[in-house]
Amino acid sequence: MQKLTVLGTGVLGSQIILQAAYHGKDVVAYDLSDEILAKLPERWEYLRPLYLRDLPDATDERIDAAIARIRATSDLADALSDADLVIEAVPERIDIKRDTWAKVGAAAPEKTIFATNSSTLLPSDMADATGRPHRFLALHFANEVWRNNTGEVMGHAGTDADAFEAVAQFADEIGMVPIRVKKEQPGYVLNSLLVPLLDAAAKLYVRGVADVETIDLTWRRATGAPLGPFQIFDVVGMQTPYNLNKDSDDPEKREFAEILKRDYIDQGRLGRGTGHGFYDY
Ligand code: NAD
Repeated sequence: MQKLTVLGTGVLGSQIILQAAYHGKDVVAYDLSDEILAKLPERWEYLRPLYLRDLPDATDERIDAAIARIRATSDLADALSDADLVIEAVPERIDIKRDTWAKVGAAAPEKTIFATNSSTLLPSDMADATGRPHRFLALHFANEVWRNNTGEVMGHAGTDADAFEAVAQFADEIGMVPIRVKKEQPGYVLNSLLVPLLDAAAKLYVRGVADVETIDLTWRRATGAPLGPFQIFDVVGMQTPYNLNKDSDDPEKREFAEILKRDYIDQGRLGRGTGHGFYDY
């Protein structure tokens, strides 16, 4: 598949667009307005030094060539007119996702395969909205797609096998390692492993069983992992775990959210990106 359309040009959408273009795909970037799309050059200049830092084959010329393969439009019919694949990276709200997919299903050509990058919703939550559920599945990226390069491919029970394989192949072609998830699973493979680890670390901390440094040291030394769970919290940033825990039924999770807010978020210690989190960088 050569022609990709990405819906939503935020944090993940912009990364997916540049990554696909960097690997030679023709990419159409769609968002709600021309004002939002006008910010894309800033996104490329934010990502450029990160590609140059992290990828041995990156050069300014190659990044310039990638940017030249990107076309931006706020006209959905125009964005979809010749798409082989659509990847949707709109906000993580079921109403927005379903509304978007209904419009795409009504306008896209017959050949188009549909993929969502949703982190927490399942393909079966949205598939029927497209009107073509057999062509619909998930391709889930991890933040900083150029180096955290897993592409989790996950269908629902009615996804065609050839659409699944075509998306796995596409992921490979744009420099991702395709992770074939054979059944629908909330959290895919990665978050099915990571979330319980982070929850367990938070509980050890809230209960006063061990301090942050000791919990991380134990995980690193005993398993050989490069980062402990609180170092991972620092990479993810404090806002996401705060949002996930603040309204929990579990009082220990709510207490963890309160600590994150009081001692970290309100102190500007938002994680590694800001130079401070559980650790100073
Ligand atoms: P974001 O808020 O940074 O970007 C969302 C973009 O969608 C914005 O540019 C917004 O203008 C646009 N948008 C809003 N409504 C739209 C609509 N109806 N049609 C088209 N565009 C619309 O969000 P994000 O962090 O990039 O997340 C997007 C998706 O990617 C979510 O499903 C999220 O679960 C998933 N995801 C995010 C991460 C992450 O680390 N941020 C990682 C993996 C997957």
